[in-house]
Amino acid sequence: MNSSETAFTTVMRRIELAAAQQRSPARLLAVSKTKPAGAVRALAALGQRAFGENYVQEGAAKRAELADLPLEWHMIGPLQSNKCRDVAERFDWLQSLDRAKLVEPLARWRPAGAPPLNVLVQVNIDDEGSKSGCAPGDVAALAAAVAAQPSLALRGLMAIPAPHADLALRRAAFERMRALYDALARDHTGVDTLSMGMSDDFELAIECGATMVRVGSALFGAR
Ligand SMILES: *Cc1c(COP(=O)(O)O)cnc(C)c1O
Repeated sequence: MNSSETAFTTVMRRIELAAAQQRSPARLLAVSKTKPAGAVRALAALGQRAFGENYVQEGAAKRAELADLPLEWHMIGPLQSNKCRDVAERFDWLQSLDRAKLVEPLARWRPAGAPPLNVLVQVNIDDEGSKSGCAPGDVAALAAAVAAQPSLALRGLMAIPAPHADLALRRAAFERMRALYDALARDHTGVDTLSMGMSDDFELAIECGATMVRVGSALFGAR
């Protein structure tokens, strides 16, 4: 096995073990930001379908280059309002919706005939000034705005908790996300995705209820 194959196999095995302990599956989103299209192609050859990008232009370029593959592209970076059209036209998922004024343009630009754009509301769960995401108290209203648009599909929540060295603090943030997610799923059918956990804490996130983990460096090497 070459190194990308080894890394992929190892990450998949760790996800499956953690998910088996929860008796509920977790999906891998391979975060390919800054990595070349060839690295995405190599992982796709191993069976990986879902890829995450932080920058709209970079993601759109890779999607175009890899148009021969049946991949699923997720926008996971902060979204500027002037990029709503590109996201609606070129991505399958937006994981970083954090304010109401983006909802209408995203819905309007989603091409007719395309399946709905899958949307996760990003929550600033540790209330960090520097980080995007809405306040926990704003989730319900933002989710309702998404759910009201036929060209958008509300699928759940995403968070990037503060990288506390103290794992108990990370666990607490993941558990607050799980509580928000459970409340959202009670209010909306179709909510099935809690996206949290990255290379250095994805097993802990799965233990706390993540259904999707976003892994970059553990798959592709350091950026
Ligand atoms: C870069 C990034 C990741 C992946 O981080 P790693 O630590 O490399 O696994 C996950 N989520 C978001 C939103 C990111 O920007």
